[in-house]
Amino acid sequence: MRRFKFLLALLTMLACTGVGLPASFEPARSAKRQVRWTKKAMPIAVSSSLTLPNASIAAGSDVAAAIHSALETWSIAANINFIEVPSNLQSISPANRPDGINLITIAATSENLAIFGNENSPARTRVFYDADTGEISEADIVINPYLYSVAGAPIEFSTDGTPGTYDLQSTLTHEIGHLLGLNHSSVLGATMNATQALNGMFGLPAVSERTLSESDIAAVKSIYGSRSETGSVAGHILSNQQGTLLPAARAHVWLEDAVSGRVMASGVTNSSGAFDIAGIVPGLYRLMTEYLDSSTAAEQTLSIDQERRSGTQSFRTVEIAGGLRVAANKSASVNYVLVPPQNSAATLNPRFAGLNNELSTVPIPASRGATLTVYLSGDAVDQVPGTGLLVTSPYLTVNPASLRSHQFGGTAPVISFDVTVALDAPPGDYSLRLQSNSGEIAYLVGALVVGPKQ
Ligand SMILES: [Zn+2]
Repeated sequence: MRRFKFLLALLTMLACTGVGLPASFEPARSAKRQVRWTKKAMPIAVSSSLTLPNASIAAGSDVAAAIHSALETWSIAANINFIEVPSNLQSISPANRPDGINLITIAATSENLAIFGNENSPARTRVFYDADTGEISEADIVINPYLYSVAGAPIEFSTDGTPGTYDLQSTLTHEIGHLLGLNHSSVLGATMNATQALNGMFGLPAVSERTLSESDIAAVKSIYGSRSETGSVAGHILSNQQGTLLPAARAHVWLEDAVSGRVMASGVTNSSGAFDIAGIVPGLYRLMTEYLDSSTAAEQTLSIDQERRSGTQSFRTVEIAGGLRVAANKSASVNYVLVPPQNSAATLNPRFAGLNNELSTVPIPASRGATLTVYLSGDAVDQVPGTGLLVTSPYLTVNPASLRSHQFGGTAPVISFDVTVALDAPPGDYSLRLQSNSGEIAYLVGALVVGPKQ
């Protein structure tokens, strides 16, 4: 009997400071103002620790190019110039003592190791900002010098896709998003999603996080972009609980292009049930909302704090609008009240997806012209008929007759089915939609990534 490799333990969170480190990074939305840089040019000190031979970077890696490319990627999207400066500095600023220097380092100093606490994350970013104005004064990135596998073996960074290593440029691209003030994204294919795949996941190099998803670009444009070029969607998600309207906090609200199906922007409701998603390319969109289950990677979304999480009612995935027009320099208003059975807990709950007998919470790479056998696991996924499986795009087609149910000895059911990607599918993140026999809907948002991302 074949067994699935549940690789969850290998999924190291790209966690960020903030949780437990109030002086460094907090939810941008709960600050009085959006956390952001006000300068258009900023020096980035590159520690000599990154250019010296180092045990945790594979020999021969092009570190300088990885740093430069990661900065360049965001520089274009945010219209900010980064000035790379070599530095002999080794340690980042302590949480209570900013030195005004934005440092990227991999040195194994006590200050740098302290930022990881007990977490085995590839990297962490500490952002210093004024709580009243939101202005960022400094941000430091530590690449983990002592990253290890579940089995305790050291994990290296590399720049050539070597299986079993982390792609350094992907790690840096994610962290520079934090340096710019971005939170985690609940879109699986987004570079700002909290999980990073090891190279070799699904038998492929894991380099898609080197580039930005449309939702990453929308997020950075919502902070640094011109409002005259993009639009926004704002409103409240409320839940009707026996006649009382309660805010639906932890609601993931996302937009898909109504034509291509690509995930284009995403946000999370606050404790009042309010959301405000900006930086959206003008166009026609589908708008959906799902509850962020605490057992998924979404719990790393920094817009949610522990306090809010308790007492929040879960709900079922809802398709709010099928033809929402977003216009430049305008904010569309959308308010939605969850009614029975939407306001009750989800019973259909896909958690893991994968290829090649591997299940994971990282997105699935989908090549144009290919037919993939996609595996899914989670509560009640075996209650979904073949005709209830869909990629919400005309470019990705599920063959309903290919549906198979598997018995692999785990607690949750596992299904597989074939998805064919059109040769002309635009690069981007696409969602898997499931509808069970009872009519309940669930999504894996942005779980299929057609590359290269733009
Ligand atoms: Zn992160």
